[in-house]
Amino acid sequence: MNRQCKCTDCGYVFDYEDAGGVRENHWLDGEYMGSETFLVCPNCGGDFEDAADCCECDEAFTEDELYEGWCEKCLRETINYDTFFEYCEANKDEQYLDTFVMCEILNCEYVPKYSSYEFHELMVDVYKAKVADIKSAMTASYKAVIDILPACIRFIMDDDGSIGRENYADWLNKREVK
Ligand SMILES: [Zn+2]
Ligand SMILES: [Zn+2]
Repeated sequence: MNRQCKCTDCGYVFDYEDAGGVRENHWLDGEYMGSETFLVCPNCGGDFEDAADCCECDEAFTEDELYEGWCEKCLRETINYDTFFEYCEANKDEQYLDTFVMCEILNCEYVPKYSSYEFHELMVDVYKAKVADIKSAMTASYKAVIDILPACIRFIMDDDGSIGRENYADWLNKREVK
C-alpha cells in the first residue's frame, strides 16, 4: 500500500515516493563535515507528515487533524439537537447536559457539584422545551429565538479542546456500530 503524506505547510497530499529531496551540507569551522538529505513536500519544500483518510469524506489528513478517524468538519456536521442530547446523556456523570443548560440556556454561572435525579430531569425538560421552541420558531418566521445549535457544537468541539473532540468521535464510532 502506498504511504500517503500531507504537507503541513501547503496541505498538498502526495505519495511518500514522490517526496522531494533537499541536500544540506554541514560545515564546522570551515571544514566540510558531510551532508544530509531531507525529504520535503514536492510542491512547496515544506515539512510533511503521514496522512490518513477521514472515515466520512475520504479527504487526507495528518494524525493531528483526525479525531478517532474523523476530520473536524465532518465531526461538526454530525452534531444536531439529537446527537448532542444523546452524547450528553452518555456522559451524565460528567454533568454535560446540566452544565450546558445552566450556562448556555439559563445563563447561570452556577452548576451544582452533584446533580440529583430531579435536578437532572429538570435540565432535560428545559433542554427539550428550548429545542421545541426553536423548531417551532423556524416554521413560524414571526417569532425570533436564538438558536442553541452553535453553542451545542462549541460545547463539544471547542470547550475541551482536542480531548473533547476525541471523546465525542469515540462515542460516535461506538454508537454507529450498534
Ligand atoms: Zn507543501
Ligand atoms: Zn471528513
